[in-house]
Amino acid sequence: MKNKNYDFIIIGGGIMGLSIAYKLITDNPKLKIALIEKEKDVAFHSSGRNSGVLHAGFYYTADSLKAKFTKEGNQRLKEFCKEYRLKINNCGKIVIAKNDEELNGLDELKRRGNANNIELNFINEKEASEIDPNVKIHHKALFSPTTATVDPMEVCSTISQILKDRHVQLFFETEYIKRLDTSPAGIITNNGNYDGDVIINAAGLYADKIARDFGFSQEYTLLPFKGIYLKTMIPWPEIKTNIYPVPNLKNPFLGVHFTKTVNNHVKIGPTAIPAFWRENYNMLEKFKLGEMKEVLWYEAMLFFTNSFNFRDMAFDEMKKYYKNHLLTLAKHLVKNLTIEQFRCWGTPGIRAQLLKKSTLELVQDFVVEGGRDNHSIHILNAVSPAFTCSFPFSEWVIKNFVYQTNK
Ligand SMILES: Cc1cc2nc3c(=O)[nH]c(=O)nc-3n(C[C@H](O)[C@H](O)[C@H](O)COP(=O)(O)OP(=O)(O)OC[C@H]3O[C@@H](n4cnc5c(N)ncnc54)[C@H](O)[C@@H]3O)c2cc1C
Repeated sequence: MKNKNYDFIIIGGGIMGLSIAYKLITDNPKLKIALIEKEKDVAFHSSGRNSGVLHAGFYYTADSLKAKFTKEGNQRLKEFCKEYRLKINNCGKIVIAKNDEELNGLDELKRRGNANNIELNFINEKEASEIDPNVKIHHKALFSPTTATVDPMEVCSTISQILKDRHVQLFFETEYIKRLDTSPAGIITNNGNYDGDVIINAAGLYADKIARDFGFSQEYTLLPFKGIYLKTMIPWPEIKTNIYPVPNLKNPFLGVHFTKTVNNHVKIGPTAIPAFWRENYNMLEKFKLGEMKEVLWYEAMLFFTNSFNFRDMAFDEMKKYYKNHLLTLAKHLVKNLTIEQFRCWGTPGIRAQLLKKSTLELVQDFVVEGGRDNHSIHILNAVSPAFTCSFPFSEWVIKNFVYQTNK
């Protein structure tokens, strides 16, 4: 055993693992913390491949953890960016309806926004065109002034550097393989064994598998959904704000939209295409036969039962592999679109979406299992907007699961 006696061993160098380590070491600089990450650096997966949107918090029902953390998470990450002089684009967001039916969707978002105490205003055509002359609205739209964008990679690298400065030990190219039988919080990695008091599993796409080794995540399995984007190669003034459609609130995805990045480039996407294995980014990259069999088994069950309208959703999403189709969807949101500028694919990301096995439903909210008494805590379903929520979400995990003061 070369690495032992840690107070905490955190698995995963995405935003959740990083922000949990950040909170723990800030509260108690004497803690001995190891963070293990299988890649060469932090944020190789969702945390470095997302849209970078700091959501405002009006999509989620008031009883959800997402609603509880998004507004505060947005403010806290903005403060963090300001303190460390990181890039931020406070360009807001417009949500538009395409037709009369979708106006009901806008009303529902406004109701949720009010219940969550989020600043969100109905705007008319004139007001919308003052924000972005190019936006195409049907009678009215919603404007969210607090939505912003950051560079997610820059945020994660900054937290990583703070952790190093505070003597958290970060071990890269160190992959959790399995649990050590002889110790409740001991693990075997490709880089030696690690032991300590508590394991915190923030392994994103692999969190459910690791949790099962510790007796958790019995009800769930993970389904990967691929998000691809088209993007401009240069700053693009035709779009001034983030522009979103009314989403289907029965599933956790927000529909194809325009994102304005910190550098004023514009992205169209992301999709939510069912992937065939967990890190199925491109072609046969990171292909794992066992994973593919498992994922295809559940996707086939969803296809045949058509749970949450999966069949139609899968077909609709697959079509988005065609640039022209993605561009056609985007064109519904604006008056003019110079499509020649959107010929390049951006870096794809994969959503680590939990499926409840008994009901074949996608789990909408964050899930956390375990506790200090079990020597292990598991962050499951840290799907969007977990990046936005990361600071208050991590603090809640520590308060309720690590120190168990308010469970
Ligand atoms: C396309 C897309 C767009 C999104 N847009 C937004 C957005 O605009 N705003 C927002 O708030 N959220 C967004 N999200 C969601 C957000 O990116 C995620 O919620 C968040 O990044 C999850 O962070 P995480 O730390 O849980 O997971 P990850 O970032 O996936 O980190 C998990 C880490 O664990 C490591 N790991 C896995 N297995 C092991 C192992 N066995 N041993 C060691 N290490 C391991 C991985 O390498 C990885 O680095 C988006 C997600 C996607 C995919």
